[in-house]
Amino acid sequence: MTEKKEIIGLSREELQAELTALGEKPFRTKQIWAWLYHQGVTDFAAMSNIPKELREKLAENYVISRPKIVTEQKSSDKTHKWLLEFADGQRVEMVYIPEEDRGAVCISTQVGCAVNCTFCHTGSQKLTRNLTAAEIVGQFMAARDVYNEWPTPTDETRYLSNIVVMGMGEPLHNVENVIKALKIIGDGDGIAVSKRKITLSTSGIAPKMAEIARELGVKLAVSLHAPNNEKRSKIMPINNKYPLEEVMEACQVYQGITGRRQAITFEYLMLKDINDSREDAQELVRLMRKYNLVAKFNLIPFNPWPGCIYQPSSNNRVHEFSKILESNGFAAPIRVARGQDILAACGQLKSKKETGQ
Ligand code: SF4
Repeated sequence: MTEKKEIIGLSREELQAELTALGEKPFRTKQIWAWLYHQGVTDFAAMSNIPKELREKLAENYVISRPKIVTEQKSSDKTHKWLLEFADGQRVEMVYIPEEDRGAVCISTQVGCAVNCTFCHTGSQKLTRNLTAAEIVGQFMAARDVYNEWPTPTDETRYLSNIVVMGMGEPLHNVENVIKALKIIGDGDGIAVSKRKITLSTSGIAPKMAEIARELGVKLAVSLHAPNNEKRSKIMPINNKYPLEEVMEACQVYQGITGRRQAITFEYLMLKDINDSREDAQELVRLMRKYNLVAKFNLIPFNPWPGCIYQPSSNNRVHEFSKILESNGFAAPIRVARGQDILAACGQLKSKKETGQ
């Protein structure tokens, strides 16, 4: 018996081609797409406006799968974390970070990560493999299952309103599947999360950034974490490959394509005595001016994890740093750490059982 194919994760064009091969008319694509991504069904039998023979044919040839939820935890601040498992047993974590009446789901793009940022818990787990488009889309669909958000609610009423591609892995090391997945997620006839509600976070894989701007136009967050090459290379060894100048130029190109109304967010982790001085803040301002970017900062208090080599900057330092940036015209809010008690904050995701999480 031939193995059944995964239907989730096919682009609309691919789904159309599959259906044509089964002898079906093009209008069926739209109907099936809506069942999968608007209604969120997990069984072909539920597709009530599809003829029985076609439903059976689909069930013979395809599966509609979701990553399996292995464990879930809710933090005292309502952050929700899941350990998800894919068909081959590989696992990633997904986190939901609620605000008042909406919230962001943080999804992963790889099992492990090859970038090795020195502050990152995820980075200490070496890259196992890229996630497929189905596995990337499937994470958000699994979150919608949990929060009962099928059929797709309107933009105003949905609780899972935003997506941050910021979990485990470097999205731009898996660019093809990430683009495919986010196009499916953005499709207005299905999951319908618009590009304005999606933020992709990269460590600065400069050569791939323009493609994301052209293909997706989502909001961009860049992990900066230092104002110069010397410091950045120590914190993020990837800087040796794509130095600050290349990253900043790629940001200029990104903004040129997506428009200057959309600020680029620079993530800046506050590490005690490493990158948190007044001079560092002033150098950062000069760097932004040099490249003339519409930019804002996200100052992230560091959440130490077992075995890490850094300490968090003091509150005073973080506030002073923020003030310098703001007095020079850059928004620089200090991120409130969420889900700290369950290790769900940025750079803390890890899928191995050995973390005990
Ligand atoms: S911060 Fe992101 S890019 Fe860096 S090691 Fe961690 S998961 Fe990879």
